[in-house]
Amino acid sequence: MPVRLLWQPMGKLFEQPELQPALQPDSLPAEGPVVEVAVNAHVWGGYNYLWPEALGQPVIGQRVRLPFGRGDRKRVGFVTDLSGRDTGRKLKAVCEVIDRQSQLDPHLLELGRWISSYYLCPLGMTLAAMVPSAAGKAASKTERVVFLASEASNWPRSLGGKQRRILDELAEAKLQGVEPLSLKQLRLHAGASPDTIRRLDSRGLIRIESRPVQLPALADTQADPPFELNADQAKALAAIEPKLGGCFSATLLYGVTGSGKTEVYVRAIRHVIDSGKQAILLVPEIALATQTLQRLVERLPKVAVLHSGLTDSQRGFYHEQIRRGLANVVVGPRSAVFAPTPNLGLIIVDEEHESSYKQDTAPRYHGRDVAVKRASLAGVPILLGSATPSLESLHNVHLGRYEMLRLPERVRNLQMPKLKLVHLRKEITPGKIELLGRTLTGKIAATLDRREQIILLLNRRGYASYVFCPSCNWTLTCRDCTRALVFHRSTQLAMCHYCQHTETIPPACPACGGKIIYFGYGIQRIESELGRKFPEAVFARMDSDTMTSPKQFQEVFDGFGSGKIDMLLGTQMVAKGLDFPRVALVGVVSADTSLAISDFRAAERTFQLIVQVAGRAGRADVPGEVIVQTLHADEPAIQFALKHDYEGFSSMEMPLRKEANVPPYVRMVRFICRHAKTDRAQDSADELVRCLREILPSDLAQVIGPMPAPVFKIKDRFRFQVLVKTARPGLVQDALGPQMAELSRKCHAEIIADVDPMNLM
Ligand code: ADP
Ligand code: ZN
Ligand code: ZN
Repeated sequence: MPVRLLWQPMGKLFEQPELQPALQPDSLPAEGPVVEVAVNAHVWGGYNYLWPEALGQPVIGQRVRLPFGRGDRKRVGFVTDLSGRDTGRKLKAVCEVIDRQSQLDPHLLELGRWISSYYLCPLGMTLAAMVPSAAGKAASKTERVVFLASEASNWPRSLGGKQRRILDELAEAKLQGVEPLSLKQLRLHAGASPDTIRRLDSRGLIRIESRPVQLPALADTQADPPFELNADQAKALAAIEPKLGGCFSATLLYGVTGSGKTEVYVRAIRHVIDSGKQAILLVPEIALATQTLQRLVERLPKVAVLHSGLTDSQRGFYHEQIRRGLANVVVGPRSAVFAPTPNLGLIIVDEEHESSYKQDTAPRYHGRDVAVKRASLAGVPILLGSATPSLESLHNVHLGRYEMLRLPERVRNLQMPKLKLVHLRKEITPGKIELLGRTLTGKIAATLDRREQIILLLNRRGYASYVFCPSCNWTLTCRDCTRALVFHRSTQLAMCHYCQHTETIPPACPACGGKIIYFGYGIQRIESELGRKFPEAVFARMDSDTMTSPKQFQEVFDGFGSGKIDMLLGTQMVAKGLDFPRVALVGVVSADTSLAISDFRAAERTFQLIVQVAGRAGRADVPGEVIVQTLHADEPAIQFALKHDYEGFSSMEMPLRKEANVPPYVRMVRFICRHAKTDRAQDSADELVRCLREILPSDLAQVIGPMPAPVFKIKDRFRFQVLVKTARPGLVQDALGPQMAELSRKCHAEIIADVDPMNLM
C-alpha cells in the first residue's frame, strides 16, 4: 500500500488505483524526507510525497504544489506531517513550495482538522478555504488600472453585452470621481475575461496603465468615547471583563435592538488590546457595509477589515499584518474566523443568529460554531451578540455552556418602537392587486409629510411571483428546476431564482389560450405601487438584484443618511444593522412570506425578521412606528414579534422543537444526492440510506429518507435528500468520516454532506 490514508483503520483501506504513484523520473529520488500532504481535491485522507532537498526544510502547514492523480495535474496541498520515512517505495515528489513560512499555526491546523471531521469535508479542501490564495505571496509592487478613453456617444453599436458592461462600469466610476478602476476589480464586477478587456483597449475605447499598488494603512487613531456606558452596558461589561485574559468561556449578549451592544464590544476589545492581545470580530456579510461598522473601526486602533471587495494584494497585506501581530483587531465575515492572529485574546460574533454565517459550499461550516471551537482550542473567551439569539445558542445557555447577559432596554431611555398589526384582507380593495393596505399607505404619506424616513421590508425578489393563467391555473415553471419562475419587469423576462434560468413570457396561456396575468408579491411590484401612490417621494431599492458591490451599498447609505432618499425598500438586507436616526416608520409588507417555506426554522426566521427590521425604527429622537401587514394575524411568531417578546417566543417554540425532534434538541446531517438522471439520483440515495443504516447504530442516529429535496431540481440535476438525526453529533462524524470515500464510491452520484444545515430547501 503505497498511499497512506488518514483516518483509515487498518484493514479498511481500499485501493484508489489512479492514485498509485506513476513511475516518473522526478519520482525516483532514492532518499530524502517524506511528508504527508493534504491535497486540495475531493479525496479523503493524506498522501505521502518525497520532499526534494532543493526545497529546503519542510514546515507543517506550508503550502506546496504537487503532481496528483492520473494525469499528474499540479494541485495545491498542505504539509500536515513530517514524520514519514522513505520506505523505498516509489513516491511522487513535491514540485514547488508556495509559502516559505507556514500559513497555518498549530492551532489553526488543529481547527482545520476539527472542521474537516465535524463538517465531513476533506482536510485539503478545508485548509485551502482557511488560507486566502493571496496569503504569503510578496505583494506585487504594481497593479494594472483601467481608464475610460472614449465618450458614450462614440461607443460602436456592434459592442457585445460584456464589453458594454465594462464601459458602463468605467463611465459610472468616472462620473463618481473614482476612476481608474483596477483591472482585477473591473473583471470581477463586469464578469469579463482579460481578452474582452484587451480588445476594448486595442480599439482605443479604454486605456490600461500600470501604477504602484496602494495598500491600505492600518490607522492608529482611536476616537474618544462619545458617551458614558449606561447602567446595563456597564453591568454587562463588568461581567465580561473578568473573563478577558482568562481561559475559554462563552457568553451570549442578548441585547434588544438599539441597546448599544457595539459599545460593549468596543470596550471589551480595547481591554484585550491593552493587554497586548488581538481580537476577532465576526459580522454578517451585509454589516460590512453599514455605518455601525465604520463607527466601530473609528473607535479602535489598527483594525484590519476583511471584506469581499478587497483586491488580492490588499488581502495579502492584511493577512501578513495579522500574522505578524501588527493588527489589533480583525473584522470580517465568517472567513475572518481563520485570521492567523498569533496572540488571540477574544472572539466576538455579532448578530450570531444570522444564517449567512453558514457557508453553502464545501467546507459547509457555520462561522459562529467554528468561532466557538476556535476560542475553546485557543483557550480564549468568546462573546456572541444578538437581539434575537438563535435557539441553538439559547439551548446552550439552558445547558449551562454559555452565560447569558442582558441589555433589556434601548440606550438613552429610547422607547422600543410600537408595532401595529394590520389584517391585509380587510385593507385592500377586492379584485385589485395591491400590496400596501390603507393603514400603511396613510402612515407613509404622513411620514413623508413630516419629512421623516421610511424603511419597507418585503421578503422577496422580482415583480410578481408567478406568471399565471387564472382560467386554468397554468403557471410558468422552470424547465430545469420545476419551480415557478418569477417575472422581472426590468427585463420583461421570467427568471428562476434557483438556477438563474430565464425565459420569455408566452403571449397567451399555452394550456387553454386564456389571458396570462402576473400575480404575487414582489419588490418590483411594490416599487411601482409606491411610484403611483407617492410620485414625489425618492426611494431606493436594496436587494441582491440591485446591490452587487460595496460601492452600491455606500451610495444608498450616503443618500439615505443625508436625507436625499426618503424611503428604503428592500429584502432582508434592510432588516440588518442599519442605524439611521430619522427612520420613523418601518413597514413589513408581508409578514407571511417567510412563514410559507417548509423549514422547521420558518417561525424563528419570521420572528427574527420582524424584530430586527422593527429595530431600525426610532433609534434616536424621532419615535418609531412599525406596521406589520399579514394574512395570518394569529400566527404566534408574529404575535410575539409585535410585543418584542423573545422570551415568550422561545418558550413557545422550544417545546415544539423538542416534540418534533429537530434542532437544537438534536443535530442533523443532511445528505443530498444529485445526478442528471432522476433514477440515478434516486438509486444513489437508496444506496446511501442502506450504507448509513449499516454504519450508524440505530441507538446513535436516525436515518430518514430518501426523499426528493424540497427543491427537486437545480441546474439540470435532480436532488434527493437523506437526513441523519442524532443527539450525539461528534460520534456520528467519527463513524462517518472514515467511510466518506467509500460512500461516494458506492453511491455513483455526487453526494453532498451538510452538517447542521441551515437551509433545508
Ligand atoms: P445595537 O447593536 O444594540 O442595536 P448599537 O450598538 O448600534 O445598538 O447602538 C445604537 C446607538 O446608540 C449607536 O448610535 C450608539 O452610538 C449609541 N450608543 C451606544 N451606547 C450609548 C450610550 N451609553 N449612550 C448614548 N448612546 C449610546
Ligand atoms: Zn431553474
Ligand atoms: Zn390557461
